[in-house]
Amino acid sequence: MIGYLRSGVSDHLLEPSLAGRCATVCRETGQLLADLAEFDARRLQMPVGYPSLFAYCVGHLGMTEDVAGQRIQAARAAREFPLLFDAVAQGALHLSAVRLLAPHLTRENAPEFVKVASVPPAPCAPVAAPARVTPLAPQRYALQVTLDQDAHDFLRHAQDLMGRGTPGSEVGAVLKRALELYMRHLEQKRFAATDHPGRSRRSNDPRRIPAEVRRRVWQRDQGRCTFRSDAGHRCEATSHLEFDHVEPVARGGGSTPSNLRPRCRAHNPLDAERVHGVAFMNGKRQAARAPGSAAYVASGSALVRESRSEGPSPARARTSRPPSATSSASLPRPL
Ligand SMILES: [Zn+2]
Repeated sequence: MIGYLRSGVSDHLLEPSLAGRCATVCRETGQLLADLAEFDARRLQMPVGYPSLFAYCVGHLGMTEDVAGQRIQAARAAREFPLLFDAVAQGALHLSAVRLLAPHLTRENAPEFVKVASVPPAPCAPVAAPARVTPLAPQRYALQVTLDQDAHDFLRHAQDLMGRGTPGSEVGAVLKRALELYMRHLEQKRFAATDHPGRSRRSNDPRRIPAEVRRRVWQRDQGRCTFRSDAGHRCEATSHLEFDHVEPVARGGGSTPSNLRPRCRAHNPLDAERVHGVAFMNGKRQAARAPGSAAYVASGSALVRESRSEGPSPARARTSRPPSATSSASLPRPL
């Protein structure tokens, strides 16, 4: 701890030391943004098993969610408007200011806006606080969120129906119950999850995945992307998942549990990009999004595909959300 003791440092040395370290932090923050922006542009988080840059920053670099979000947004803005790198490195702009400024910048106004924003702002009216979930203790969290009038009225009405002031009518308890019901609704809608499964409809379409199969695959893989990096890290994505055929339907692969695996939207196309190249896949994406194309009509703007790669990864016990109904099996035109 000797290196952190300052009691023996004189006043005239402490002040320049403090100022110098602040300047160093600013310069390093500018360099960090530059690294982050280039890392993001190359999408290097994907081959090491992360579905997004945010997940990589939190899961691999150890940033908090707030810090990761702030740095990523600032890095992307600075990549588009490089003068932000200098503004941050010189201490003229802090990252929260970059975050507020970024959506309003254009090529024309960026120099002027950055100059004005670099001046300490005058006090202004409070704005809505961003949603925040803060761990308080094991299995306990604080939720901070801004409600609109409808959400506020729904909450109060639900409390009134339960009998405001009675056990279980507290805001946290009402939210828990509401979220539980909503989760069941989404599971039923997107994953065909049910405690009373019926008989699946027969279909001659080999791309159609029966509800029973979707349930089995989802439960087997704990509703989590099955991509693993070369180092063995399994992607932790549990949202925006799609069913991927290990053996493509065009090559005879069936919609069976052994031939299906959940993949997130970041990793679902990754194998195809490795095989066909990023440029080729980008062309496919554009074609799929073109109004009037078969893929566009069938799947909205989502790019879905089939790929051939290793089988499903061992699943880790985990409770998670249901997958999207989007499925590579629904693609009308496999690659
Ligand atoms: Zn993934």
